[in-house]
Amino acid sequence: MMKPDSKIFVAGHRGLVGSAIVRKLQSSGFTTILTKTRAELDLTSYSDVMAFFSTEKPEFVFLAAAKVGGIQANNIYRADFLLENLKIQNNVIEAAWKHQVKKLMFLGSSCIYPKLAPQPLKEEYLLTGLLEPTNEPYAIAKIAGIKLCESFNRQYGTDFISVMPTNLYGPNDNFDLNSSHVMPALIRKFVSARENNESTVTVWGSGTPMREFLYSDDMADACVFLMQRYSGNEFFNIGTGQDVTIRELAETIQKITGFQGELVFDKTKPDGTPRKLMDVSRLKALGWSPSVPLEEGIRLAVNWYLQNQARFK
Ligand code: GDP
Repeated sequence: MMKPDSKIFVAGHRGLVGSAIVRKLQSSGFTTILTKTRAELDLTSYSDVMAFFSTEKPEFVFLAAAKVGGIQANNIYRADFLLENLKIQNNVIEAAWKHQVKKLMFLGSSCIYPKLAPQPLKEEYLLTGLLEPTNEPYAIAKIAGIKLCESFNRQYGTDFISVMPTNLYGPNDNFDLNSSHVMPALIRKFVSARENNESTVTVWGSGTPMREFLYSDDMADACVFLMQRYSGNEFFNIGTGQDVTIRELAETIQKITGFQGELVFDKTKPDGTPRKLMDVSRLKALGWSPSVPLEEGIRLAVNWYLQNQARFK
């Protein structure tokens, strides 16, 4: 168990999930949280990561650092997504083993599941079929990470656990329209269309794919909950268990941002996997459930974007 003064390293603390985990740890009374910017510590460098663990000796690790992106970035920068993620996770997980970290949590993604797996996605569907092609390299890296944690546990008796979040959103998200996920992209597009009195907002694809969304503070809450409650070789889906179509999502953001114009669907852009709803009963059985409803979360994310918009110009 993490104690209030345990040394906890959050890798990726500037990102959507890492920043939420730091907020959650701080508000829960943990006092010794280690963070490093990319300029201070290059997680893709084996020797730098080993030196960092040897000097700082973290006791607990949240591995939330990864190269992440939306459907277009994943599809184009295929080699970068595979290579960079393998390097980061291999380095941090091996260093955690070599330097006797008490417990590590690896963050995966719902895209690890086969494209045509039954819905909702249960943890046991891993490796039962072919992956969605647009993000196959990223998913392969994440599957390797889960298996690396499990294999270290089995061979060396470590306490490394993995979690698979659904689509996340919230403060510190990536709002770059070419590389972001759908939620920040649409928030940015609707806010900008309203501010500039544009008549249309373009939504990629057909609008029919379904996605599940979890607010990042709920995700962080679940991560800290599992870090304190679970050890073993099962991994956990983290989500709400409810999804919406991309059209419904766009209409909700439209309502919240007050955009008066029309939606246009650009069918030259990929839809990706038709649906990826998580089965969250394994996590629910331990007593965890999310607390931020979708509309409230979108309001929070829109407000955060409005206050931090200058960063993304
Ligand atoms: P995915 O969950 O891995 O497919 O990644 P995304 O979050 O990037 O995309 C989810 C769905 O939203 C896909 O069907 C996209 O085509 C659709 N979508 C609609 N508008 C946008 C947009 O502006 N940006 C992105 N990234 N996706 C969009």
